[in-house]
Amino acid sequence: MSECRGRSTSRIRRAVNNVDLQSFRFWFQFTAFVLFVYGGYLAIDLGNSIPMFSCGYNREGRAGVCYLLPLQHQLARPWEQLFSAAGIAVLTGFGLFFLWFIVLNKGWCGFMCPLGTLQDWLTSLRKRTGIRYSLYGEKPFNALSWVKFVLLALMILIPLGIGGGWFSHDMGAPFCQICPGRVVLPLFTGDTTQLTLDFSSVSGLVLTGLGMFIAGMFLIGSFIKKRFFCFFCPMSALHYLIAKPALLKLKKDGETCTKCGNCFNVCDMEIRAIADDIVKKDAMTDDCTLCLKCVAACPEPGTLKVEFAGLKIFESTEEGFLKRMNKGAGCDGHSH
Ligand code: SF4
Ligand code: SF4
Ligand code: SF4
Repeated sequence: MSECRGRSTSRIRRAVNNVDLQSFRFWFQFTAFVLFVYGGYLAIDLGNSIPMFSCGYNREGRAGVCYLLPLQHQLARPWEQLFSAAGIAVLTGFGLFFLWFIVLNKGWCGFMCPLGTLQDWLTSLRKRTGIRYSLYGEKPFNALSWVKFVLLALMILIPLGIGGGWFSHDMGAPFCQICPGRVVLPLFTGDTTQLTLDFSSVSGLVLTGLGMFIAGMFLIGSFIKKRFFCFFCPMSALHYLIAKPALLKLKKDGETCTKCGNCFNVCDMEIRAIADDIVKKDAMTDDCTLCLKCVAACPEPGTLKVEFAGLKIFESTEEGFLKRMNKGAGCDGHSH
Protein backbone atom coordinates (compact mmCIF):
# COMPACT_ATOMS: atom_id res chain seq x y z
CA MET A 1 0.00 0.00 0.00
CA SER A 2 2.69 2.50 1.07
CA GLU A 3 4.85 1.31 -1.86
CA CYS A 4 1.93 2.06 -4.20
CA ARG A 5 1.45 5.54 -2.68
CA GLY A 6 5.21 6.17 -3.00
CA ARG A 7 5.10 5.20 -6.68
CA SER A 8 2.20 7.55 -7.47
CA THR A 9 3.89 10.40 -5.52
CA SER A 10 7.05 9.98 -7.54
CA ARG A 11 4.99 9.87 -10.78
CA ILE A 12 3.35 13.20 -9.86
CA ARG A 13 6.71 14.67 -8.90
CA ARG A 14 8.20 13.54 -12.20
CA ALA A 15 5.30 15.02 -14.19
CA VAL A 16 5.65 18.35 -12.34
CA ASN A 17 9.42 18.47 -12.85
CA ASN A 18 8.94 17.71 -16.56
CA VAL A 19 6.33 20.44 -17.02
CA ASP A 20 6.51 22.73 -20.04
CA LEU A 21 6.97 25.82 -17.87
CA GLN A 22 6.70 28.26 -20.78
CA SER A 23 3.22 27.14 -21.68
CA PHE A 24 2.14 26.67 -18.03
CA ARG A 25 3.23 30.22 -17.26
CA PHE A 26 1.55 31.66 -20.32
CA TRP A 27 -1.85 30.22 -19.37
CA PHE A 28 -1.45 31.05 -15.68
CA GLN A 29 -0.54 34.66 -16.50
CA PHE A 30 -3.34 34.91 -19.07
CA THR A 31 -5.93 33.71 -16.51
CA ALA A 32 -4.59 36.08 -13.85
CA PHE A 33 -4.67 38.97 -16.34
CA VAL A 34 -8.31 38.28 -17.21
CA LEU A 35 -9.15 37.97 -13.50
CA PHE A 36 -7.48 41.19 -12.41
CA VAL A 37 -8.35 43.35 -15.42
CA TYR A 38 -11.90 42.11 -16.15
CA GLY A 39 -12.96 40.33 -12.93
CA GLY A 40 -14.81 43.44 -11.71
CA TYR A 41 -17.45 42.85 -14.42
CA LEU A 42 -18.25 39.58 -12.61
CA ALA A 43 -18.43 41.46 -9.29
CA ILE A 44 -15.15 39.88 -8.09
CA ASP A 45 -13.53 42.07 -5.46
CA LEU A 46 -10.36 40.88 -3.75
CA GLY A 47 -9.92 44.11 -1.79
CA ASN A 48 -7.32 46.83 -1.99
CA SER A 49 -4.24 45.11 -0.58
CA ILE A 50 -3.17 43.20 -3.68
CA PRO A 51 0.66 42.79 -3.77
CA MET A 52 1.15 43.63 -7.47
CA PHE A 53 -0.29 46.04 -10.02
CA SER A 54 -4.02 45.57 -10.38
CA CYS A 55 -4.79 49.16 -11.10
CA GLY A 56 -7.46 50.97 -9.10
CA TYR A 57 -7.91 53.47 -11.95
CA ASN A 58 -9.34 50.61 -14.04
CA ARG A 59 -12.65 51.50 -12.42
CA GLU A 60 -15.03 48.99 -14.04
CA GLY A 61 -12.89 45.91 -14.64
CA ARG A 62 -10.57 45.65 -11.63
CA ALA A 63 -11.05 42.64 -9.38
CA GLY A 64 -8.82 44.07 -6.65
CA VAL A 65 -6.65 47.11 -6.13
CA CYS A 66 -2.86 47.40 -5.99
CA TYR A 67 -1.84 48.13 -2.38
CA LEU A 68 0.26 51.16 -3.35
CA LEU A 69 -2.85 53.27 -4.09
CA PRO A 70 -4.54 53.05 -0.64
CA LEU A 71 -1.15 53.13 1.09
CA GLN A 72 -0.33 56.56 -0.37
CA HIS A 73 -3.79 57.93 0.46
CA GLN A 74 -3.54 56.64 4.02
CA LEU A 75 -0.06 58.11 4.55
CA ALA A 76 -1.19 61.50 3.18
CA ARG A 77 -3.66 61.99 6.04
CA PRO A 78 -2.94 64.91 8.39
CA TRP A 79 -0.41 63.78 10.96
CA GLU A 80 -2.74 64.29 13.90
CA GLN A 81 -5.04 61.67 12.29
CA LEU A 82 -2.30 59.38 11.00
CA PHE A 83 -0.59 59.12 14.38
CA SER A 84 -3.85 58.40 16.21
CA ALA A 85 -6.72 56.00 15.52
CA ALA A 86 -6.38 56.30 11.70
CA GLY A 87 -2.93 54.72 12.04
CA ILE A 88 -4.71 51.45 12.78
CA ALA A 89 -6.15 51.48 9.22
CA VAL A 90 -2.59 51.78 7.86
CA LEU A 91 -1.48 48.79 9.94
CA THR A 92 -4.55 46.74 8.97
CA GLY A 93 -3.97 47.50 5.27
CA PHE A 94 -0.34 46.48 5.56
CA GLY A 95 -1.30 43.31 7.46
CA LEU A 96 -3.69 42.24 4.66
CA PHE A 97 -1.11 43.06 2.00
CA PHE A 98 1.45 41.00 3.93
CA LEU A 99 -0.94 38.02 4.21
CA TRP A 100 -1.56 38.02 0.44
CA PHE A 101 2.17 38.36 -0.20
CA ILE A 102 3.42 35.76 2.25
CA VAL A 103 1.82 32.89 0.31
CA LEU A 104 3.27 33.50 -3.13
CA ASN A 105 6.24 35.75 -2.38
CA LYS A 106 7.42 37.32 -5.65
CA GLY A 107 5.46 34.67 -7.53
CA TRP A 108 2.93 37.56 -7.78
CA CYS A 109 5.42 39.14 -10.19
CA GLY A 110 6.28 36.06 -12.22
CA PHE A 111 2.75 34.66 -12.53
CA MET A 112 0.07 37.20 -11.58
CA CYS A 113 0.94 40.87 -12.13
CA PRO A 114 -0.90 42.30 -15.17
CA LEU A 115 1.90 44.81 -15.75
CA GLY A 116 4.50 42.01 -15.65
CA THR A 117 2.39 39.89 -18.02
CA LEU A 118 2.01 42.79 -20.41
CA GLN A 119 5.79 43.17 -20.53
CA ASP A 120 6.13 39.45 -21.32
CA TRP A 121 3.57 39.79 -24.13
CA LEU A 122 5.49 42.73 -25.58
CA THR A 123 8.63 40.56 -25.47
CA SER A 124 6.80 37.82 -27.39
CA LEU A 125 5.69 40.39 -29.94
CA ARG A 126 9.25 41.60 -30.40
CA LYS A 127 10.49 38.03 -30.85
CA ARG A 128 7.98 37.50 -33.65
CA THR A 129 9.37 40.54 -35.44
CA GLY A 130 12.88 39.04 -35.19
CA ILE A 131 14.28 42.18 -33.48
CA ARG A 132 17.04 41.39 -30.96
CA TYR A 133 16.55 42.68 -27.46
CA SER A 134 18.98 44.80 -25.45
CA LEU A 135 20.88 43.95 -22.27
CA TYR A 136 21.99 46.35 -19.55
CA GLY A 137 25.41 44.86 -18.80
CA GLU A 138 26.70 44.34 -15.26
CA LYS A 139 27.61 47.92 -14.21
CA PRO A 140 24.40 49.70 -15.23
CA PHE A 141 22.48 46.72 -13.88
CA ASN A 142 24.00 47.15 -10.41
CA ALA A 143 23.45 50.91 -10.52
CA LEU A 144 19.82 50.52 -11.60
CA SER A 145 19.11 48.12 -8.76
CA TRP A 146 18.87 51.08 -6.38
CA VAL A 147 16.29 53.03 -8.37
CA LYS A 148 13.32 50.99 -7.15
CA PHE A 149 14.33 51.46 -3.49
CA VAL A 150 14.63 55.24 -4.01
CA LEU A 151 11.19 55.28 -5.66
CA LEU A 152 9.76 53.28 -2.74
CA ALA A 153 11.25 55.74 -0.24
CA LEU A 154 9.81 58.71 -2.19
CA MET A 155 6.46 56.96 -2.47
CA ILE A 156 6.31 56.84 1.33
CA LEU A 157 7.96 60.17 2.16
CA ILE A 158 6.00 62.39 -0.29
CA PRO A 159 2.54 61.34 1.03
CA LEU A 160 3.88 61.76 4.59
CA GLY A 161 5.02 65.26 3.53
CA ILE A 162 1.53 65.97 2.17
CA GLY A 163 0.05 64.97 5.52
CA GLY A 164 2.57 67.22 7.30
CA GLY A 165 1.57 70.17 5.10
CA TRP A 166 4.90 70.36 3.20
CA PHE A 167 3.45 69.38 -0.17
CA SER A 168 0.15 70.17 -1.86
CA HIS A 169 -2.80 67.74 -1.64
CA ASP A 170 -3.12 68.14 -5.44
CA MET A 171 -0.40 65.54 -5.74
CA GLY A 172 -2.89 62.86 -4.61
CA ALA A 173 -1.17 59.47 -4.75
CA PRO A 174 2.04 60.70 -6.43
CA PHE A 175 3.43 57.33 -7.51
CA CYS A 176 0.13 56.38 -9.17
CA GLN A 177 0.30 59.58 -11.22
CA ILE A 178 3.56 58.40 -12.80
CA CYS A 179 2.83 54.64 -12.81
CA PRO A 180 2.40 53.23 -16.33
CA GLY A 181 -0.31 50.89 -14.98
CA ARG A 182 -2.66 53.87 -14.44
CA VAL A 183 -2.47 54.87 -18.10
CA VAL A 184 -2.13 51.45 -19.76
CA LEU A 185 -4.32 48.98 -17.83
CA PRO A 186 -7.68 50.88 -18.05
CA LEU A 187 -7.22 50.89 -21.85
CA PHE A 188 -7.91 47.14 -21.83
CA THR A 189 -11.47 47.85 -20.76
CA GLY A 190 -11.84 50.68 -23.27
CA ASP A 191 -11.43 53.33 -20.55
CA THR A 192 -9.40 56.22 -21.98
CA THR A 193 -10.02 58.67 -19.12
CA GLN A 194 -6.41 58.36 -17.91
CA LEU A 195 -5.04 59.53 -21.25
CA THR A 196 -5.43 63.16 -20.16
CA LEU A 197 -3.32 65.83 -18.53
CA ASP A 198 -4.46 67.46 -15.29
CA PHE A 199 -4.38 71.23 -15.92
CA SER A 200 -5.99 72.10 -12.58
CA SER A 201 -2.63 72.63 -10.83
CA VAL A 202 1.06 72.83 -11.66
CA SER A 203 1.92 69.68 -9.67
CA GLY A 204 -1.00 67.81 -11.30
CA LEU A 205 0.18 68.86 -14.75
CA VAL A 206 3.80 67.88 -14.07
CA LEU A 207 2.87 64.48 -12.60
CA THR A 208 0.28 63.51 -15.24
CA GLY A 209 2.69 64.72 -18.00
CA LEU A 210 5.41 62.57 -16.48
CA GLY A 211 2.92 59.69 -16.23
CA MET A 212 2.18 59.89 -19.98
CA PHE A 213 5.89 60.00 -20.78
CA ILE A 214 6.63 57.00 -18.52
CA ALA A 215 3.72 55.03 -20.01
CA GLY A 216 5.23 55.63 -23.47
CA MET A 217 8.64 54.57 -22.15
CA PHE A 218 7.03 51.47 -20.62
CA LEU A 219 5.60 50.36 -23.97
CA ILE A 220 8.75 51.09 -25.98
CA GLY A 221 11.15 49.91 -23.25
CA SER A 222 9.33 46.61 -22.67
CA PHE A 223 9.39 45.95 -26.40
CA ILE A 224 13.18 46.12 -26.57
CA LYS A 225 14.11 45.08 -23.01
CA LYS A 226 12.63 42.13 -21.16
CA ARG A 227 10.75 43.19 -18.01
CA PHE A 228 11.97 46.76 -18.57
CA PHE A 229 9.75 48.30 -15.89
CA CYS A 230 10.28 45.60 -13.23
CA PHE A 231 13.85 46.85 -12.69
CA PHE A 232 12.40 50.15 -11.40
CA CYS A 233 9.28 48.88 -9.68
CA PRO A 234 8.83 50.07 -6.05
CA MET A 235 6.43 47.17 -5.42
CA SER A 236 9.34 44.82 -6.19
CA ALA A 237 11.49 46.71 -3.66
CA LEU A 238 8.75 46.45 -1.02
CA HIS A 239 8.40 42.71 -1.73
CA TYR A 240 12.10 42.13 -1.26
CA LEU A 241 12.16 43.94 2.09
CA ILE A 242 9.46 41.69 3.54
CA ALA A 243 10.26 38.43 1.69
CA LYS A 244 12.10 36.55 4.46
CA PRO A 245 9.09 34.81 6.06
CA ALA A 246 7.30 34.15 2.72
CA LEU A 247 6.34 30.51 2.10
CA LEU A 248 7.39 30.16 -1.55
CA LYS A 249 11.20 30.04 -1.86
CA LEU A 250 13.74 29.65 -4.63
CA LYS A 251 16.62 27.51 -3.31
CA LYS A 252 20.01 26.62 -4.73
CA ASP A 253 22.44 23.83 -3.89
CA GLY A 254 25.78 25.42 -4.80
CA GLU A 255 27.68 22.15 -4.35
CA THR A 256 26.07 20.56 -7.40
CA CYS A 257 26.15 23.71 -9.56
CA THR A 258 28.55 23.43 -12.51
CA LYS A 259 28.31 27.17 -13.28
CA CYS A 260 27.14 26.33 -16.81
CA GLY A 261 25.24 29.65 -16.93
CA ASN A 262 21.99 28.24 -18.37
CA CYS A 263 19.97 29.81 -15.57
CA PHE A 264 21.47 33.26 -16.14
CA ASN A 265 20.90 32.92 -19.88
CA VAL A 266 17.15 32.54 -19.48
CA CYS A 267 16.73 35.07 -16.68
CA ASP A 268 14.71 38.06 -17.90
CA MET A 269 16.04 40.11 -15.00
CA GLU A 270 19.71 39.38 -15.88
CA ILE A 271 20.51 38.09 -12.41
CA ARG A 272 24.09 36.84 -12.63
CA ALA A 273 24.11 35.61 -9.04
CA ILE A 274 21.71 32.81 -9.93
CA ALA A 275 24.60 31.14 -11.80
CA ASP A 276 27.61 32.63 -10.01
CA ASP A 277 26.65 32.43 -6.35
CA ILE A 278 27.32 28.94 -5.04
CA VAL A 279 27.22 29.91 -1.38
CA LYS A 280 23.76 31.31 -0.66
CA LYS A 281 20.99 28.74 -0.31
CA ASP A 282 18.17 31.27 -0.70
CA ALA A 283 18.55 32.18 -4.38
CA MET A 284 15.99 34.98 -4.56
CA THR A 285 17.55 38.41 -5.09
CA ASP A 286 15.88 41.84 -5.06
CA ASP A 287 15.18 41.85 -8.81
CA CYS A 288 13.99 38.24 -9.03
CA THR A 289 10.37 37.82 -10.14
CA LEU A 290 10.17 34.12 -9.18
CA CYS A 291 9.34 33.24 -12.79
CA LEU A 292 11.12 29.89 -12.26
CA LYS A 293 12.64 29.90 -15.74
CA CYS A 294 16.06 29.29 -14.17
CA VAL A 295 14.80 26.09 -12.48
CA ALA A 296 13.38 24.84 -15.78
CA ALA A 297 16.66 25.57 -17.60
CA CYS A 298 19.04 23.97 -15.09
CA PRO A 299 20.27 20.51 -16.19
CA GLU A 300 21.64 19.47 -12.78
CA PRO A 301 19.32 17.33 -10.61
CA GLY A 302 18.09 19.23 -7.56
CA THR A 303 20.48 22.18 -7.96
CA LEU A 304 17.68 24.72 -8.25
CA LYS A 305 14.34 24.12 -6.60
CA VAL A 306 11.17 25.80 -5.44
CA GLU A 307 9.82 25.05 -1.99
CA PHE A 308 6.49 25.91 -0.44
CA ALA A 309 6.59 25.97 3.37
CA GLY A 310 9.67 23.71 3.22
CA LEU A 311 8.08 21.20 0.79
CA LYS A 312 9.78 20.73 -2.56
CA ILE A 313 7.29 21.48 -5.36
CA PHE A 314 9.44 21.91 -8.49
CA GLU A 315 13.11 21.12 -9.03
CA SER A 316 15.67 20.94 -11.79
CA THR A 317 16.14 17.47 -13.27
CA GLU A 318 18.08 16.23 -16.27
CA GLU A 319 14.95 14.61 -17.70
CA GLY A 320 12.85 17.78 -17.35
CA PHE A 321 15.64 19.87 -18.85
CA LEU A 322 16.00 17.56 -21.89
CA LYS A 323 12.23 17.38 -22.45
CA ARG A 324 11.94 21.17 -22.44
CA MET A 325 14.99 21.53 -24.70
CA ASN A 326 13.49 19.09 -27.22
CA LYS A 327 10.24 21.04 -27.22
CA GLY A 328 12.14 24.31 -27.61
CA ALA A 329 10.58 25.48 -24.35
CA GLY A 330 12.69 26.79 -21.52
CA CYS A 331 15.54 27.81 -23.84
CA ASP A 332 14.26 31.36 -24.21
CA GLY A 333 17.73 32.76 -23.67
CA HIS A 334 19.58 36.05 -24.01
CA SER A 335 20.21 35.50 -27.69
CA HIS A 336 16.47 35.94 -28.36
S1 SF4 B 1 8.16 44.02 -10.38
FE1 SF4 B 1 7.05 43.85 -12.32
S2 SF4 B 1 5.73 42.09 -12.03
FE2 SF4 B 1 6.36 42.77 -9.96
S3 SF4 B 1 4.77 44.20 -9.25
FE3 SF4 B 1 6.35 45.39 -10.29
S4 SF4 B 1 5.63 45.57 -12.42
FE4 SF4 B 1 4.50 43.89 -11.47
S1 SF4 C 1 21.86 26.17 -14.66
FE1 SF4 C 1 22.11 25.01 -12.76
S2 SF4 C 1 24.17 24.14 -12.92
FE2 SF4 C 1 24.05 25.74 -14.46
S3 SF4 C 1 24.83 27.58 -13.44
FE3 SF4 C 1 22.64 27.60 -13.14
S4 SF4 C 1 22.32 26.59 -11.15
FE4 SF4 C 1 24.39 26.08 -11.83
S1 SF4 D 1 16.52 34.26 -10.91
FE1 SF4 D 1 15.22 32.66 -11.79
S2 SF4 D 1 13.20 33.00 -10.88
FE2 SF4 D 1 14.39 34.87 -10.54
S3 SF4 D 1 13.88 36.21 -12.29
FE3 SF4 D 1 15.73 35.07 -12.86
S4 SF4 D 1 14.99 33.25 -13.94
FE4 SF4 D 1 13.23 34.12 -12.84
